[in-house]
Amino acid sequence: MNLHEYQGKSILTTYDVPIQKGYAADTVEEAMAKYDQLAKETGSPFAVIKAQIHAGGRGKGGGVKLAKNRDEAKEHISNILGMQLKTPQTPGGMEGAGKQVNKILVAEDAYAPDFDANKEYYVSILMDRERKQNVIIHSTQGGMDIEAVAEDTPDLVHKTYIDPEAGMQAFNAREVAFNLGLEGRAFKSMVHFIGRLYRAFVESDASLIEINPCLHTGDDRIVAVDCKFSVDDNSLYRHKDIAAMRDESEEDATEVEAKSYGLNFVNLDGNVGCMVNGAGLAMATMDIIKLSGGEPANFLDVGGTADAARVEQAFRIILRDDAVEAILINIFGGIVRCDRVAQGVVDAYQNIGDIKVPIIVRLQGTNADIAKELIDNSGLNVRSAVSLQDAAEEVKKVLG
Ligand code: GDP
Ligand code: MN
Repeated sequence: MNLHEYQGKSILTTYDVPIQKGYAADTVEEAMAKYDQLAKETGSPFAVIKAQIHAGGRGKGGGVKLAKNRDEAKEHISNILGMQLKTPQTPGGMEGAGKQVNKILVAEDAYAPDFDANKEYYVSILMDRERKQNVIIHSTQGGMDIEAVAEDTPDLVHKTYIDPEAGMQAFNAREVAFNLGLEGRAFKSMVHFIGRLYRAFVESDASLIEINPCLHTGDDRIVAVDCKFSVDDNSLYRHKDIAAMRDESEEDATEVEAKSYGLNFVNLDGNVGCMVNGAGLAMATMDIIKLSGGEPANFLDVGGTADAARVEQAFRIILRDDAVEAILINIFGGIVRCDRVAQGVVDAYQNIGDIKVPIIVRLQGTNADIAKELIDNSGLNVRSAVSLQDAAEEVKKVLG
């Protein structure tokens, strides 16, 4: 689950990671009230106005603006709230439709009083799957596109690996500060910053925290100016406060709906819809689809207790995708009985009506023979398959 910048920063403050002061708002009036409050607290009319959407590169699309006074603040807030913000990371990129901005962050100007005295670094923490360790990626080349930095000047991107068993050690944080060329007070600030940031990462069950830019101020403080924060969905049961931060308006509408039915669904770009019980089998099914010359249109795990109602919901969701040319249903009947799933398929087919795409059903396990009979005698445009190989052949046939 991805968080907004202001939400990620609110978690960071609880871990004593320095951020600049700021308040989120939904309306121009509310944002102006926050601006006035902030100006009073900081004693400065400067503020940065930031669109809150689940995409980076906001600055490039006009979603981050510095206001030098109250009038400018009002102008930026009015322009940004409600705009369709296009960034390199919104759907379709800078040429796409963009994303509507529903929330805004009014924050202290972190670069004041002397803009040029600041340095922008890059810091992120994530898991390195190959090494089975966490990694702190850091660079003096912050504020810009880190992928481009890694491509053009790989020597300027450093990695410090953390053994998850041992946890963060003082020397790990010192290594980061050293790699960034810091000394004295700034060195100490960075060691503190990294230690706290790592703790926030582990204790929040984060899958990514990215701070870009991570600001080194003229007076040697280290401040998180931007914050991309993603949390492992599977941990949300033990983070009620973070779970409550979910912003469904930023997520794929179909995926949100699927979740409400207990379906584990991910939208993909291909032409073969699939419905499977169990995540592992779903992955294998996607491989089979690829091997037979198709591309999976989705990942869909209906779960271990697939009943007729769930099968029908799954059907409806898959059929909503115009790119789908065939549907492959692959069910292993361990706890579920294949004949019940088969009945569910037949019922759903009749309930929905007007299904034009061919459907291939492979049911294996408990009562598979009864299930096959049920499908074969249904008179519907549904083909049954027994082995995965058969299923692949059927997919090949219907795709022509
Ligand atoms: P992103 O474009 O979505 O990555 O948003 P950022 O939070 O990284 O902001 C984009 C850029 O705006 C930064 O790289 C800075 O150059 C600038 N910026 C962000 N916050 C401030 C601020 O407080 N003061 C000033 N002067 N510039 C800022
Ligand atoms: Mn950024």
